[in-house]
Amino acid sequence: MGHWCRICGETKANEKFSGKGHKNHICKQCALKPKEKIDEVDQTDEIFGFLKQSHISSKNIGRLKRLVQESRSIQTIEKSDFFKKSDFLDF
Ligand SMILES: [Zn+2]
Repeated sequence: MGHWCRICGETKANEKFSGKGHKNHICKQCALKPKEKIDEVDQTDEIFGFLKQSHISSKNIGRLKRLVQESRSIQTIEKSDFFKKSDFLDF
């Protein structure tokens, strides 16, 4: 039985996680990555998590807009898709 790392998306053996990493779902290898890298993954996950919801509250829409603007991890093409969808969402 392994443990899932939310940064690299791989399931790894439990010993690949530190105690804290276990709780945070970050393997030892990914824990060494710069904080910006980890933030990028988190922000991207958050954005796509919102996009999967059929209803997004206005509070979350504000958060989404800010995340997308700040995020460096989202490729231009994905950003344009996002803004297409955001038109539909009536931002
Ligand atoms: Zn990892």
